[in-house]
Amino acid sequence: MLLTNGRIYTLDGRGTIADTLVVRDGRVAFAGRRADVNAAPGEEIVDLGGRAALPGLVDAHGHLMHLARLRLTLDLRGADSEEDAARRVGERAARLPKGEWISGRNWDQNLWPGARFPSRASLDRAAPDHPAALVRIDGHATWANSAALHAAAITRATRDPEGGLVARDAAGEPTGLLVDTAQRLLHGVEPRPTDEQFDRAVRECVADCLAAGLTGIHEMGAELYALASYRRLLERGEFPFRNYVAVAGRSASTWAQYRERGPERIGDGRLAIGALKLMADGALGSRGAALHEPYCDDPGNSGLVLMDGPEVERLTLEALGLGFQVCVHAIGDRANTLVLDAFERALARTPRPDHRLRVEHAQILTDRDVPRFARLGVLPSMQATHCTSDMAWAAERLGPERVRGAYAWRSLLATGVIIAGGSDFPVESPNPFHGIPAAVTRRPRDHVDVRSRRPSDGQGEPETDVRSRRPSDGRGEPETDRGWQPEQRMTREEAVRSFTTWNAYASRQERELGSLEPGKQADVVVLSEDVVTCDEARIPEIRPVLTLIGGEVVHRAPGWSEV
Ligand SMILES: [Zn+2]
Repeated sequence: MLLTNGRIYTLDGRGTIADTLVVRDGRVAFAGRRADVNAAPGEEIVDLGGRAALPGLVDAHGHLMHLARLRLTLDLRGADSEEDAARRVGERAARLPKGEWISGRNWDQNLWPGARFPSRASLDRAAPDHPAALVRIDGHATWANSAALHAAAITRATRDPEGGLVARDAAGEPTGLLVDTAQRLLHGVEPRPTDEQFDRAVRECVADCLAAGLTGIHEMGAELYALASYRRLLERGEFPFRNYVAVAGRSASTWAQYRERGPERIGDGRLAIGALKLMADGALGSRGAALHEPYCDDPGNSGLVLMDGPEVERLTLEALGLGFQVCVHAIGDRANTLVLDAFERALARTPRPDHRLRVEHAQILTDRDVPRFARLGVLPSMQATHCTSDMAWAAERLGPERVRGAYAWRSLLATGVIIAGGSDFPVESPNPFHGIPAAVTRRPRDHVDVRSRRPSDGQGEPETDVRSRRPSDGRGEPETDRGWQPEQRMTREEAVRSFTTWNAYASRQERELGSLEPGKQADVVVLSEDVVTCDEARIPEIRPVLTLIGGEVVHRAPGWSEV
């Protein structure tokens, strides 16, 4: 295949922009000017129509297993009436074979007109042929339809269990609402997802990731059942994606098995099991991130350490010795110190020149710890959208001093490290065109910027230039237009590299992936707009129009007719 008439950002060391890319045997054979290459006989020629193309985008911290699990559970959050919730159940039912269960969560009748508990009647109308069991947002009640009650043999004769209630109408018939322990009557018969269901959910999640522009992920903590699913799908040719997996250290059976097997490459490396994922602390939102000093908004609490330093050190040495990379979740400053200390001790005991140890999140750092990443060769793996999601309340938790070390991308880059970029989906969207603008602007996506009405040159312009070019309307620029802690922003090139070349390095795949250079895998995304030069406000709207993985077309936008 010969792709031509494009603006192809190769992301090679010189920042070459090519107009033509030749793909042979799944790899890049040429990247350069059309005039310098001839199509081989029978080679397909694709006119990119001036569009921009990038190396395949990779999310360095995603959870495909969790995304698939969530997909099998209908999320009813946001339903604004019983009818609306039932309608969503009906939509799900329309896509499932008759008789298959629908599990759901997160309805809340207090948000509905009249605040009345729902009943089976609405569900029976929407989904008569699929047993449905929908758990209330607090987990204390389940709303079921007649098919589910029937499957669980719940009738007017069923007695209320100890600590539970089968709600009944005036005639004594169960209404479909099961409270507290009565929920067990249902959940005992509700089947767990089958392999087939899980496989299907994984396939759909991969399709969503491809449609967002990803060609691969680093999965931070997969368990055996998920790995078995990916393997089945690969064998059937139904896994058109790259997954670099860190096995879940907190699943003892998973690590026990991989400690014996060692790292694996399956399907020509499409599925590569190469790392161990550990967790050192919790998260900032739930005040579980381990801090050196207590939370400003919770003075008795300084967070939770989930794994102590000696254990991180021991497992790091064990995993490195077996050829695994190690990726440790650390959000709070105390957890980051703990992990860096453990890495430092491990490397002092057994020096390894190319260990590529990673800290996942590296979210809150002390001034003292910032330069230790570069010094130790440890890679921070960070999620720009966490910054824009947390910025509204991070300062309340941390106070004005500590918050300066939060999501401190520029401080880290200035020490010479690279930052692996990701989303932590399903916590955030897997869409890399949410992550890139978050990194570049440190503003939430819904922020309306005065600059968006003005043509942009695409460069991160110094603030003074912007001000001087702005017509004086007397209102001045709202402070938020500059983003939160704007001195920590990334440039567009850095943000793009944090989803391409830097992630290839952070998974030891830089010889195969990350840039479009001869010999590397032909993983390419052709974009609806040029992410490097388009107006900032347009970046979240960018979609891939054509995606290749290993030279194969894996995604094509509707209406794209060139291929
Ligand atoms: Zn995560």
